[in-house]
Order: sequence, then C-alpha cells, then structure tokens
Amino acid sequence: MDLKKMTIHALSEKLKAGEFSSVELCREYLKNIDARDGEVGAFLEIDRENMLCAAQAADERRQAGNAIGDFDGIPIAIKDNICVKGERCSCASKLLEPVKSPYDATAVELLKKQGFIPFGRLNMDEFAMGSSCENSAFKQTRNPLDTSRVPGGSSGGSAACVAADFAPAALGSDTGGSIRQPAAFCGVVGVKPTYGRVSRYGLVAFASSLDQIGPLCNDAEDAGIILDAISGFDPHDSTTLPDAAGGYADAARKGWQSGSLAGLKFGLPKEYFTGGLDAGVAKVMDETIAKVKALGGEIVDVSLPHTKYAVAVYYIIATAEASANLARFDGIRYGSRQDANGLVDTYYKSRGAGFGDEVKRRILLGTYVLSSGYYDAYYLRAQRVRTLIRKDFEEAFKQCDLLLTPVTPQVAFKFNEKSDPLQMYMSDIFTIALNLSGHCGISIPAGIDEATGMPVAAQIMAPASGEKIMLQTAAAFMK
Ligand code: GLN
Repeated sequence: MDLKKMTIHALSEKLKAGEFSSVELCREYLKNIDARDGEVGAFLEIDRENMLCAAQAADERRQAGNAIGDFDGIPIAIKDNICVKGERCSCASKLLEPVKSPYDATAVELLKKQGFIPFGRLNMDEFAMGSSCENSAFKQTRNPLDTSRVPGGSSGGSAACVAADFAPAALGSDTGGSIRQPAAFCGVVGVKPTYGRVSRYGLVAFASSLDQIGPLCNDAEDAGIILDAISGFDPHDSTTLPDAAGGYADAARKGWQSGSLAGLKFGLPKEYFTGGLDAGVAKVMDETIAKVKALGGEIVDVSLPHTKYAVAVYYIIATAEASANLARFDGIRYGSRQDANGLVDTYYKSRGAGFGDEVKRRILLGTYVLSSGYYDAYYLRAQRVRTLIRKDFEEAFKQCDLLLTPVTPQVAFKFNEKSDPLQMYMSDIFTIALNLSGHCGISIPAGIDEATGMPVAAQIMAPASGEKIMLQTAAAFMK
C-alpha cells in the first residue's frame, strides 16, 4: 500500500471500494511509524491496541452497511496538548507527565463522531511554547525532509507525522503560528481557523485569547474535511462562534475543479516583503505572485502599519495569559508533585522541577507585565496596540479579498541554530499578527529553496469566517 502524501478523501474512496480495511490501513501506518519514527521522533506514545480496536469496530460497521459517514476508520494523529479520553496528555512537560485525560476535547469528540480514529500523542514544544520542538521535555523531533533540521513548532510532531506519512493528517494548535510554521517547514498544509471557529474545550490553554486547534494535512480538501468535522458552536467554550460552520470541503473541491483565481484580489502587505526575507524564500514568493496573476488573480499593494509591533505585543499578551493559565499546575491538583515542607514550598518545588526553562521564562515575563505598577505600561498598552493591529487587517480586507504573504522568513533551520530566545521569537514574525487579529490563515507549499532543497510555503489570510474562500483559493493554487 503506497501511503505517500495520501489524502483523507482518497482513503475514503478506497475504503468504500473495499481496496483495504481500516485495520489494514492502520497497520500500514504503524509499519511506516515503526520503520522511521525512531529517526523522526514525531510521537511521544501510541496506543496501538486502542487504535486497532477502533479500526476493527469501523470495519465491522462498514461490513454491516452501517459506516458512519465517509470517513469511518481513517486515523488522525493528535498533538499532545489536546485531550483524548483515557490517554495521557503531557503537553511535552515533565510537570504533566503522569496526567491522563478524563474526557475528550470537543474537536476529538467530533472527529470520533465522524468515524475518524484519533490516535497517538504527538511531540511539541513544552506547553506549545516554541518554534522548533526543541523545547519538548522528552525528545527531539526531526524534520523528515532533512533530519539535521528542525520540524518547526510548536506542532512539530504534527507536521513531521504528516510529512513522514505516519498518518494522513494531524491536529495541532496555533497560538502564534504553531500550525502554519511547522507545516511550512515540513512541506504540508496547515490551517489556523478564525478565532472561535473550533472549540478550545479540551485543549490545554496556553494563551486563551489566541489559541486555536486546526488541521495539518496533505491538501486543501482534507483541511476542509477536518474543519467540517471539528468546527462549530460548543456550549463548553463561550468563545466559539454562533454562526453556521461547514461547507469547507465543498469549497476546496470547487477551487480544485475550477483551478482559477479570476475575480479575486490579493493584497500584498508591504511590511511582509522586506529585506528580512531569505533570498530563497523571496524567490519563491515572487514566483507565487506570478502564478497568482497567471491564474487570473489581481494583485494589490496594502499596508498593515502596526505589524511591526506584533511580536512585542504577542510576547506581552501571550505570556500574561500563560502565567495565569499555568498557575493551576501546582503539583497538588495536576501533575507530578515534589514533596516539601508545607504547601507553598511544595508548589515551588513542583513547579521548579516540572517546568522547563522556556516555560519559566514565559511565566516570569507574564507575571511581570501583569504586576501592579507595570500593568498599565505593558499589558494595557499591548491590548490597545492589539486593537490597532486588528483594525489594520480590517482596513486591508476592504481593499482585497485575501492577503498573500510568506509564512516564515527562512526555511527550516538546523538544531541549536537559534540559541537566543529573541532570535527564535522572530521566526514567527509573519504568523503572529493573525492570531492577534483573530482572522484565519493557511500555509501551503509553494516551492523549494534552491540552496537547501527545503520547502517554502505561502500564507493566504482571509477575513473572519473566510475559511471557504481561503480553502477554495488554496485548492486552486495547489492544483
Ligand atoms: N512560537 C510561538 C511561541 O513560542 C507560537 C507558539 C504557538 O503558536 N503555540 O509562543
């Protein structure tokens, strides 16, 4: 069975035609994992028995003519900060190493309702803080396209898993670029949905006003299929959008069939095309713009003037929210405990031993910007600039249908190349503003960097709830 770059929609047809069973399919993916995950390191753990049991049940339903929809029996791998009932959920942190999920995240529950088989615990940067997976407390994940390079982060395990054909798709989470950046580094498709499109219930919170769950997969139609499954209002998450979700896979199919971008206006934000771009990335972006024009798309220049503050604003707001969200991990209620004399010392010791350096850095920063005396100067001010950033996007979307930008300033870098945290933070410079504004974006493979042979991606950003036009465009472009 050749599972190279296999899509969910193709698998659905093959399962329907009886070319193979779900058990055979899962065994084949497990075979790929056994052959190569020792080197790649995408997974922290795989519950094979559960996966194969679910596949067996799907096969029985199919044989009895009771398959649940089109995707019954198709495996999807899950990032280790998303709860799957009965499985561990560590966020790649020592502090949460022993924790088991008591319930399914809404996104996981919805996947199961469609017959998908959520499986595996994919490696990530601890608590989703990082851009290379180097902050995992447990292991290094390598880029399957060049194992001397990072897969990106924080959903590096998710991107590596899809790129290595360990699963047709994976769920990741994106707070400042953590789906789009690793997707770009590994040459797969990744979507950050509009804020509120997908429920965050059961996603371990990093920065609640920025976090979104989304798919990493092999094409735009698959992104649509997964979004169709996991989107929608959820009474467990009051920030989910009440408007009707869905129709995403159909939109992608339409784009694929037409293969045309006629009638669409693409804005190029001038702040994203500066000297900071590596030559190989700039070249692919030039080619991408030419392709968009050749497909009938119109290109206009736009400006997002406050973008230059995005990284600074993000590292104030995200750390502030993280310091509050991570306060609950005290070794008493959750996670591993280091006993000491008295309650407060137990907190200190447990957190001191359980959190890694980057997580501690974020908690310190967040506590600082929220402290009385600094709150107004940092946190409040950052919130105000966040509003300006969002307004920039809204103004830009009056002049164009979509924005076209690079995803990253450079291709996947080597291990230990960015030892200075600030340098690492800058690798999200093109993705972070979109989390602050709440709009949606997709990372799609756009070309190859000649110097390294590594993939270069383009980002298409759409207005709030613009997932359909975004996926339609991505599909037409990828055709
Ligand atoms: N790299 C960014 C950070 O470290 C974004 C992470 C994310 O999107 N989860 O905060």
